[in-house]
Amino acid sequence: MQPAAARPIPQRGMTKVMSFTAADRSKAMTILAYYLKNVTPHEFYQRLLMALSNRMILSSDVENLLSALEAIGVVTSSAHVAVTNNVPRHCLRCHQPYLERDNSLRSCTIPHVLQQPIGAEVAARAQAPAVICCANPNFATNPDHFQGRHTTLEVNVAYNAINVKTCVERGCFRNVVVRNK
Ligand SMILES: [Zn+2]
Ligand SMILES: [Zn+2]
Ligand SMILES: [Zn+2]
Repeated sequence: MQPAAARPIPQRGMTKVMSFTAADRSKAMTILAYYLKNVTPHEFYQRLLMALSNRMILSSDVENLLSALEAIGVVTSSAHVAVTNNVPRHCLRCHQPYLERDNSLRSCTIPHVLQQPIGAEVAARAQAPAVICCANPNFATNPDHFQGRHTTLEVNVAYNAINVKTCVERGCFRNVVVRNK
């Protein structure tokens, strides 16, 4: 019985680079442009995320994708810096600790503050709870007062007296705040 041979790693990226001609480039541009004009940003984003979370995806394809996105300037060096940064940070909006590599467009979430109708109000109006942190909140479709990236910059934060308070008002430790700078 022969020992099992190691599976060869396909070199798809290299083959493509070597066979690239002006006609190939033009065709590839046309296909990409057609694809981008016929997909919603959301669907494109979901497909990419799904593909990257697929464990069967080839390492070479992941590396080729990253190289290509970097080469055309979509992914910048700041992403490299972010994933290697181990400095513990403190968010000046939600006051949670975080590492920059874990930051995302959804990592900082602050819910609206509601006031339940009380006593006579309930009987009189059978009303939904009132949002007291902000005006015009679209509460039915979005329960979040804020959703976005954690931040270490006060200028990025819209403070109020109810649910987005400063570190001083919250009593966060001074040394934690200083470490952001
Ligand atoms: Zn609100
Ligand atoms: Zn935050
Ligand atoms: Zn704080």
